[in-house]
Amino acid sequence: MQDDDLRSSSNVEDRRGMGGIARGGLGLGAVAVLTLIGWATGIDPSVLIGGAEMVTQQTQGTPQVVPRGTPNDEIGRFAAKVLGETEDVWAQILPQQAGRQYQNPVLVLFSDITNSGCGTAQSAMGPFYCPVDHKLYLDTAFFRDMQQKLGGGGQFAYAYVIAHEVGHHVQNLLGLLGRVQQAQESGNGRAASDASVRTELMADCLAGVWAHHMNIRHQNIDETDIRQAVATASAIGDDRLARQSGRVAMPDSFTHGTSAQRVQWLTTGLRSGTVKACNTFGG
Ligand SMILES: [Zn+2]
Repeated sequence: MQDDDLRSSSNVEDRRGMGGIARGGLGLGAVAVLTLIGWATGIDPSVLIGGAEMVTQQTQGTPQVVPRGTPNDEIGRFAAKVLGETEDVWAQILPQQAGRQYQNPVLVLFSDITNSGCGTAQSAMGPFYCPVDHKLYLDTAFFRDMQQKLGGGGQFAYAYVIAHEVGHHVQNLLGLLGRVQQAQESGNGRAASDASVRTELMADCLAGVWAHHMNIRHQNIDETDIRQAVATASAIGDDRLARQSGRVAMPDSFTHGTSAQRVQWLTTGLRSGTVKACNTFGG
């Protein structure tokens, strides 16, 4: 993936190295593994579902005031470019395809731990989107873990992770995130899990839609990039992670969908380039 032509977003809050609460007794290896499992098995839904109670925490916590801009290091610059391209693509296609104006989210880069509008953000949770403050939270160490522990990696695979979280922001702007909460409030665990999986798969598809349009604008991804992202999507399916951790893969416990489902929806978005094709709630 070439990122030379991408505009850097200035909507990045760089909180790395700002310290925070001590992490306790977990070893680094355990944290890294938890990070991967956390991302693939449910931090976004739990954040979404827990939205209401977490607002309370927001008022109690001390908000961190961090100036926004574009980081200077390699990974920070890359994240800012990917974010900038999501801003440009979604500002163009959301009005065209869904009749809504796009509002830019903020990308918070942090190390280990930080505060979010949805409660404390920790590396172990993996990247997530907080619908309360419209911010994406990412510990960039996650990219290193993808590479080392999942055999994933590659720039487009990292871009896909950011684009997936931006996909949740698009869902939020479209008023689609309430479905998970409604299902949860109904007390029907199966319905809640189902809504959560559909929400995650739609975010994968929306990441694909973004990549489709980025490639029209810049011709900057090739088959190898797509294979890497698909390999990543496949590696972080709930079924694969369950097997890797020695658990039995139980579809009812999935919150992100199986490897095959994730690959299918990412590919659907990539091929079609349309939000409409991402209606995971339709079938
Ligand atoms: Zn997600």
